[in-house]
Amino acid sequence: MDALIIGAGFAGAVTARQLAEKGCKVTVLEKRNHIGGNCYDEYDEYGVLVHRYGPHIFHTNIKEVYDYLSRFTEWYNYSHEVVGNVYGKIIPIPFNLNTLNIVFGEEKGEKLKKELVDVYGMGARVPILELRKSKSEGIKEIAEYVYENIFLKYTMKQWEQSPEEVDQSVTARVPVLISYDNRYFQDKYQGMPLDGYTPIFEKMLSHENITVETSVDAKERLSFDFDTKKVYYNGVEFNGTVVFTGAIDEFFDCKCGKLPYRSLKFEFEHYDRDYQGHGVVNYTVTEDYTRITEFKYLTGQKIQGSTIIKEYPQKYTDSKTQVPYYAILSDENRALHQKYADLVAPFGNFYLLGRLAEYKYYNIDGIVKAALDLSRRIAED
Ligand code: UDP
Repeated sequence: MDALIIGAGFAGAVTARQLAEKGCKVTVLEKRNHIGGNCYDEYDEYGVLVHRYGPHIFHTNIKEVYDYLSRFTEWYNYSHEVVGNVYGKIIPIPFNLNTLNIVFGEEKGEKLKKELVDVYGMGARVPILELRKSKSEGIKEIAEYVYENIFLKYTMKQWEQSPEEVDQSVTARVPVLISYDNRYFQDKYQGMPLDGYTPIFEKMLSHENITVETSVDAKERLSFDFDTKKVYYNGVEFNGTVVFTGAIDEFFDCKCGKLPYRSLKFEFEHYDRDYQGHGVVNYTVTEDYTRITEFKYLTGQKIQGSTIIKEYPQKYTDSKTQVPYYAILSDENRALHQKYADLVAPFGNFYLLGRLAEYKYYNIDGIVKAALDLSRRIAED
């Protein structure tokens, strides 16, 4: 074995495939009993294709990523649209010029639109915290509406922090759009894998140089000598490459401290009819859940009946029963993560990759790109 990859989500699977194609013998160890990481999907008992770990929608501006994934899947041509349920009123999210007219009416909406376009320009993407700084009365009124009705309560539910407290990059993911574009993402390439995500992983990992073992905790196989900077696999010194994609703090028994994460509790429900007529409805002011996803609208599956998922954000406290979905970005937490990065750096060919291992808020395309880049670097060494 030349390379050991820990985790079989996009970070691990892309790296494994790339190294395997370069002639490396690769072993992938996955803690769960299936591959695919949080993108894992499967048919539920009603025959509906569901994402077990919450909705994942692919979008990218990176042609390399789109082309790469297209080797493993065809695409269902889907552009994601989200609506907000604001006390029963349904409005497009991100807030855009269509939303403006719904909320403020045609006449006032047109006046406010002119102000927005004059100040930011048609096509601009303005983070809510930026919009709130405006001195213009009209723009301030829009900003207050958007802040109060779209961001404040949803963000409090999701993070138990206000939009000011969370890292600014988080709310900037959903900017106010100075356009009539109702799509959630404006990326050039978007879509859902035609047969689902899991078959992508099956194809990616199906290579003569790749061995995959599921239900294996890498902690039981790997050990480290911090004095000699040697890695041991099943007690034998291992000089190959290790790419670790899991929670780095837990891997080292939290010896530098516990990194905080947000988790989610999912409730799946099945109906013998269509449920909400939209792929995703965000509950931005009411309910304990943040959003409801109706899978058939994302996947385009033609089926009688419908399965939905409600997402209840939670503190992450128990690695046995919960999944750490989101890093909580802050200078303090990044500094703590850096301690773990410093811990593994002297081991030379031990790499951290992915949402958990790098403590980052990666989208699918971001992690696929990072995995392609890392495997190129490894292969060049
Ligand atoms: N957000 C919000 N209201 C919304 C949508 C998003 O307040 O209707 C904020 C919230 O803080 C959220 C962040 O914007 O965590 C990023 O949203 P995104 O939809 O990108 O989150 P993800 O799909 O990654 O959970």
